[in-house]
Amino acid sequence: MINLETYQVWFVTGSQHLYGNEVLRQVADHAQQIARALNDSPQIPVKVVFKPVVTTPEAIYDVCLEANRAPDCIGLITWMHTFSPAKMWINGLAALQKPFLHLHTQFNRDIPWATIDMDFMNLNQSAHGDREFGFVASRMRANRKVVVGHWQADETQQEIGVWTRAACARLDWQGAKFARFGDNMRQVAVTEGDKVAAQIQFGYAVNGYGVHDLVESVNHVTNADVDRLVAEYEATYRIAESLRAGGKYRESLRDAARIELGLRHFLEEGPFKGFTDTFEDLPGLKQLPGIAVQRLMAEGYGFGAEGDWKTAALLRAINVMGAGLPGGASFMEDYTYHMDPQGEKVLGAHMLEVSPSIANGKPSAEIYPLSIGGKADPVRLLFDTRTGPALNASMIDLGNRFRLIVNEVEVVPPDEPLPKLPVARALWLPKPNFKTALAAWIYAGGAHHTAFSQAIASAHLHDFAEMSNMEFLLIDDHTELTEFRKELRWNEAYYRNA
Ligand code: MN
Repeated sequence: MINLETYQVWFVTGSQHLYGNEVLRQVADHAQQIARALNDSPQIPVKVVFKPVVTTPEAIYDVCLEANRAPDCIGLITWMHTFSPAKMWINGLAALQKPFLHLHTQFNRDIPWATIDMDFMNLNQSAHGDREFGFVASRMRANRKVVVGHWQADETQQEIGVWTRAACARLDWQGAKFARFGDNMRQVAVTEGDKVAAQIQFGYAVNGYGVHDLVESVNHVTNADVDRLVAEYEATYRIAESLRAGGKYRESLRDAARIELGLRHFLEEGPFKGFTDTFEDLPGLKQLPGIAVQRLMAEGYGFGAEGDWKTAALLRAINVMGAGLPGGASFMEDYTYHMDPQGEKVLGAHMLEVSPSIANGKPSAEIYPLSIGGKADPVRLLFDTRTGPALNASMIDLGNRFRLIVNEVEVVPPDEPLPKLPVARALWLPKPNFKTALAAWIYAGGAHHTAFSQAIASAHLHDFAEMSNMEFLLIDDHTELTEFRKELRWNEAYYRNA
């Protein structure tokens, strides 16, 4: 399970020596109060660490290098309580390899109308101190997030919280390893991509393993461990008649548990943060991993079917961003449509691999044949998805860049029960409407595979894309197709120059 409390963001306040020690003492005191308040905010999941006020180019450079080296530091929050001549920041910002958030706030919320004097003005001057810092950041084309608002305001803290979650996911990708069992599904285009480019840009490595490596791990699983896991299944899910003790497919349930234990062991040994498989390459495995993949996704692993490593890495990032928030996330595929003009909807599912973290109620473990792959019937968890707001995110490789496409959706209950559908599923209304959302998605080249989340919002992914230098396209209530198509054209020109 992922715990964001182990991460830190550093609160760095800029000033200068011109003001004298008394003012600098007050600056430090105020900055500590802000850092403490942010640290205590329930909106911000990471530790906010106060760093001594910086007043020289050397101190700024040092804190930036220190942040680069600190393994748990996700980035910086910068704030200029007073004026901090910003040429002092150039060397530090040029060396900084972690994202930063520029908090444009003021210690005093209100102007003290009756008592305000020049001392107050000299201390509370982020209105121009932050502009000086902002200029240098823009002059350097520094990638950063600007948050404006009083530091005690809930909305300000919430925006900082969103950004820190994105920065945790970015740090989690650095040095991360993703395993691919087998290669891509034959002839599929969108799941391909440049793994070297991804490693250079995002910091994670994707490497292939033979299915025999996994089979070896599965074969080492003991019967006692299988007994324990089957008992856990029985305590956690409803179990179909045929899978219960004495049932016709009891051995298949035990095979599924054995695959889960072998896969889990393999991932822990890596250690890997996610994986892909493909139904076209399963020699030595009795069934396509179903319940195993479902449960591992719910624990925070990334997963992509048919060799889809980009979605596996993206789902991992989304699991990190959403850690501790209500709602889950899953690998997902846009499967089939309900095109009734009274309510056009998308039915999302996959052959097996949907995470029970999005389940509405207790999932049910069942077994059915899989119409492709030619293996024994796989065990899977069946459920409907919780209703409410959600999003689908897809990452594609356009050759000269990666693009992240996000569509906000509303999950709705099925119009009628689906008694014959043997997979977990979600039904949603895409925003702004069916016709616009789907046309925009297809013009943008969005994949049929997505990472689906009910825990995070599009704002998390926007921050994440910005700090990862990824193109970001949002399809939401404000999307208008003519404008969206212009954005695609303009981005094409921008990225040719960038
Ligand atoms: Mn698929």
